[in-house]
Amino acid sequence: MSGEFPYWGEYAMNTRNSRVKRFEKTLDTISNKRKVPKSAYFLILLLYVLTNIAVNAITRGEGNAITERIPIPLSAFTGIFSSVANILIIFLVVFFRKTGFITSFILLLIQFPMIIRGIIISKSYNSIPGIFNNVFTIVAITIIYVNEVRVEKGQERIRQHAITDMLTGLPNRFAGSELMTDFINRDKNFVVVSVDLNNFKSINDTMGHSVGDKVLIEVANRWKNISVYEDTKTQNFVVRLGGDEFAIIIWRYKSDEEIVDTINKYIRSLEEKITIDDCDYFMTASFGYAEYPTDADNADTLIAYSDTALHNVKNSHGGSQIVRFEREYLGTEKDLEIERLIRSALDNDEIYFRLQPQYDMSHKLRGFEALARMNDNDGNMISPGLFIPVAEKIGLVDKIDSSVFRKSAEFISSIIKETGADITLSVNVSVRHLMKNNFLDEIKSILGKTGLSPKNLEVEITESIMIDSVEKALICIGDMKKMGIKIAIDDFGTGYSSLSYLNKFPADLLKVDKSFIDEMNKDESSKQYVAMIISIGHIMDMDVISEGVESEDQIDTLKKIGCDFIQGFVWGKPLPPEEAGKLVRQSVH
Ligand code: C2E
Ligand code: CA
Ligand code: CA
Repeated sequence: MSGEFPYWGEYAMNTRNSRVKRFEKTLDTISNKRKVPKSAYFLILLLYVLTNIAVNAITRGEGNAITERIPIPLSAFTGIFSSVANILIIFLVVFFRKTGFITSFILLLIQFPMIIRGIIISKSYNSIPGIFNNVFTIVAITIIYVNEVRVEKGQERIRQHAITDMLTGLPNRFAGSELMTDFINRDKNFVVVSVDLNNFKSINDTMGHSVGDKVLIEVANRWKNISVYEDTKTQNFVVRLGGDEFAIIIWRYKSDEEIVDTINKYIRSLEEKITIDDCDYFMTASFGYAEYPTDADNADTLIAYSDTALHNVKNSHGGSQIVRFEREYLGTEKDLEIERLIRSALDNDEIYFRLQPQYDMSHKLRGFEALARMNDNDGNMISPGLFIPVAEKIGLVDKIDSSVFRKSAEFISSIIKETGADITLSVNVSVRHLMKNNFLDEIKSILGKTGLSPKNLEVEITESIMIDSVEKALICIGDMKKMGIKIAIDDFGTGYSSLSYLNKFPADLLKVDKSFIDEMNKDESSKQYVAMIISIGHIMDMDVISEGVESEDQIDTLKKIGCDFIQGFVWGKPLPPEEAGKLVRQSVH
């Protein structure tokens, strides 16, 4: 399987061209594999030789070292210098592995004839312990070296897993973001290119996942060849983000043309058809890019901007395949105003939340969904329907999610402690946030700090996430489930998820989108449609909640067709925490 042989390793084994080396160096920097400077090697060697000269001189010499009053025989120092020499030898092995081991081995070996000669010719019997000393040191360094090699091999495997996409063998999202962080820390110009394969989803849907995977592997192979071998004026590094999404990081370019030239190589590599199981596929891709620091000064915003540029390519319907980010893509003046408000609300910790109650069909409280809120300069509330999409565009949505999660978890945890109520807090998580590598750590840290139990937490994920980035989402969802956290599929029915996707997702709750509930009582077929969604949910062993329920009639219908829970204005609007607290207290009496 390609994942076991990441491509830099594979190429590095066969060739040692300078680009491969540079590539490896980049990966080493990413995974923090730092080397001890060569000068240290020579310094240790020098010290070793000096201590040996000292040992020899002392062994041969006679007399005493005079301290204040007590004469100490010089020979007493032999032991000290020999120990120092041994420690230096061990340093060589620990810091310089193979080179260190070989050097030490040779150094120790060549001492044998010298010591033996000393014993035989000069009758210097003082040196006899030296033979044992050398033998023991050789045994010790061999054990240390063998052990080091074993540990290093293990570390290497872990390192490659952490930075490798298992399907394609390309570096993964983590590798990409580490490289960017490194550039940003060193304030180095670079470009992030968001890449998306056109019509990949239709191959997956019509030909099945295994064909889809093979297409991805072939595309990845062609692209890694460009990244490692092709003669481009720039340096470039391609990573797979998940699904059919890739990113290229380009640096060392002199002009915009060189960036576009590089991207064109990636485009041209797809011109030749891809043949899988006797079927030909013609792939194309779209590319949007943004530059550090011209367009954005942090990685999140930069990626959001390159994505925005990519969306522009996708919406241009047959226009250019490559688009550079422009401020105007961010939208209208109003969006820019909202952007300013988001930034200032985050800076001043002014994002707050409302809690909308969820009930079972007998009107018993199930829990609450936390919904983000923010005010404009006049103190009027702005709807998240307006600011969440903007936050997504500028790469700040995860900060909003976290703020809402932290504050609502704190509140719900305290109300559970006070009342003993067994209620669920549902929080919304955006795609971008879920895909972050530290997402789980963040959840754990918030649960730890607030004392909320994972079984009282539910994470709402919108259907579109599953479609775009199945693999990564699945891993993350699996980890959350292991912790006891519940998973809800939000806005169900608005995306295009097929049943096979749904089947793979170990979700606990399906949220039927408001748009279906609105239509439900208008005609029989709409009602049947909602009934079908509910049945599917139940077949997949999930509970089903209907969102946006506004009337008693709708409640009646939902009871008849077997819905499990309700969230809607009819039984409760989003409430400030104090009022939500009152509801909980009432529910336990
Ligand atoms: P959503 O997750 O589907 O949340 C439900 C939305 O429907 C909420 O709107 C809620 O107030 C509204 N709603 C619930 N019942 C009714 C009803 O009976 N009638 C009507 N007309 N509306 C109802 P809200 O609070 O404006 O949130 C809009 C969207 O913003 C949410 O949709 C969610 O996608 C997003 N959002 C809110 N908070 C967050 C957050 O913290 N993080 C992220 N990533 N997204 C959030
Ligand atoms: Ca939601
Ligand atoms: Ca929803």
